[in-house]
Amino acid sequence: MKRIKFLDLVDQYSNIDNEIDLSIKDVIRNAAYIGGSFVEKFENEFAKFLGVKNVIGVGNGTDALEIVIEALEIPKGSEIIVPANSFISSAEAVSRCGHKVVFCDCDLENLTLSTDDVQKCITSKTKAIVAVHLYGHPCELTKLNEICSKHDLFLIEDCAQAHGAFYREKHVGSLSDAGTFSFYPGKNLGAFGDGGAISTNNHELAIKCRMIANHGRMKKYDHLFEGRNSRLDGIQSAILSVKLKHLHNWVNKRNDLAYAYTTKLKDLNEIKLPFVAKWAKHAFHLYVIRTTVRDRLKTYLEKRGIETGIHYPIALPNLKAYAYLENSKKFNASNISNELLSLPIGEHLSIGDVDYVVSTIKNFYKEL
Ligand SMILES: *Cc1c(COP(=O)(O)O)cnc(C)c1O
Repeated sequence: MKRIKFLDLVDQYSNIDNEIDLSIKDVIRNAAYIGGSFVEKFENEFAKFLGVKNVIGVGNGTDALEIVIEALEIPKGSEIIVPANSFISSAEAVSRCGHKVVFCDCDLENLTLSTDDVQKCITSKTKAIVAVHLYGHPCELTKLNEICSKHDLFLIEDCAQAHGAFYREKHVGSLSDAGTFSFYPGKNLGAFGDGGAISTNNHELAIKCRMIANHGRMKKYDHLFEGRNSRLDGIQSAILSVKLKHLHNWVNKRNDLAYAYTTKLKDLNEIKLPFVAKWAKHAFHLYVIRTTVRDRLKTYLEKRGIETGIHYPIALPNLKAYAYLENSKKFNASNISNELLSLPIGEHLSIGDVDYVVSTIKNFYKEL
């Protein structure tokens, strides 16, 4: 039986193994494990890639969000708007900084923040919005920036799923007060362990983030305040420098595969395909379809060797972790969570693999 993996990091490594191995040895020969030239090099390369003035490497994508929110120095107990459909980090960071999570609904076309609902969520206590470029599709950043200037709010982009995505001519992560990235191994740009980064054009904010991530200091024992320890290490940085050179190609490959899925599945009325706004270059971290018979389709594909995922099975407001908010609001995000199905996508797949997935899906609906 043909096997279509959802993610294949061994395959990715086998195409760049020499380069990667050399880069790791280079770090070891220089004992440049923490801080130092490999981290600086990657930070500069990633800043150049994104078109931003500053990139700060940190321990992971969740820390990146937490550090940015802390660095913005907004009064404790403020409200921060977070999408109802995302990974928990986007909301967790808000609470951990002592603020209140206010869940906002999603746009039913591209499933990122609904700018209409954002406006309804704003109160006198609102101080910031966390815009998640979910699945790799950029949020409506022009509109969100307008809303933020009008109400004097900070805009943070959670780019953990959107390395390589463009909002019009610009990379996501360059169009707000700060962007946050995760280099978790399975992301579009992944390390060999945990890693994360913050991007910003605001120099003062960059310094504050760097200090928070480094025990409140710039120099060795000169601590100006209490911070924490959150570092992107030398080996991960060296690996990321190698992988960054391939990122555009990988994202283009994802777009080609997505285009193939969309062209071949578009006549199938039973499923709703991902929507790409005309101003967007999607990073296609995930290719998410919607169907009312999701669980049956998932099992059918699994039995035929096709791995799929669900992002996310439970909308954030419905998690036990957020029961304390006593939300009575009805979210579209909750209604559709049992329809979402992520099909395999990534540089390990070929158009032939997509054809196999497509024909299996078509067979499923024929037999239904
Ligand atoms: C992966 C992810 C994160 C968290 O990143 P970590 O590096 O695992 O902490 C945050 N937000 C979103 C939307 C993610 O997908």
